Amino acid sequence: MISNSDLKYLRRCVELARTALEKGDHTQHPEFALARWAAANMTRSERSKATVYTSGEHCPMCAAAHGWVGLGRIVYASSSKQLVQWLDEMGVPPSRVRNLPIQEVIRDSIIDGPVPELEEEMRQLHRQFYKRV
Ligand SMILES: [Zn+2]
Repeated sequence: MISNSDLKYLRRCVELARTALEKGDHTQHPEFALARWAAANMTRSERSKATVYTSGEHCPMCAAAHGWVGLGRIVYASSSKQLVQWLDEMGVPPSRVRNLPIQEVIRDSIIDGPVPELEEEMRQLHRQFYKRV
């Protein structure tokens, strides 16, 4: 269930993704960096109560890192399934690594997304990114 405050944080994630795109800054799996930061700076209990917001659903590597360090809920704007569909529509070849839903990587996290209100904005961001590649 997506609350108004979830939506506020997700809009900020999308805004940051847009800024990264405009700066040509490949963010290099920030979810993985966040998991490492959480392991170094938060107790197990704090991590289990934390919510991670992200513009795009975690890739399998980041989902595994999230699971290994015991972070809590994940909220994302657009899903890996949507990304695969958008890339296919743009004629971008599939990645060598499968786009698995987070639930197939982590057994017990609460996961919310995708968020329909942000779908078109996320699709356009991916279009802009792949036009440049
Ligand atoms: Zn990742």
